[in-house]
Amino acid sequence: MASKFIVVKCECGNEQNIFSHSSRPIDCKVCGKRLASSSGGKAIITNGKIVKELE
Ligand SMILES: [Zn+2]
Repeated sequence: MASKFIVVKCECGNEQNIFSHSSRPIDCKVCGKRLASSSGGKAIITNGKIVKELE
């Protein structure tokens, strides 16, 4: 199970790089919405969508 960075596009239009296996929640830097929640493994995208996966 490889860890990597993913680009998530928020509902507000902001695109943000996040760690795919982040151990803590990640909020949008622009509007503050929760982009991803920690699940103990792969982060769960809660708002917006994945637009790119970076190796
Ligand atoms: Zn946002």
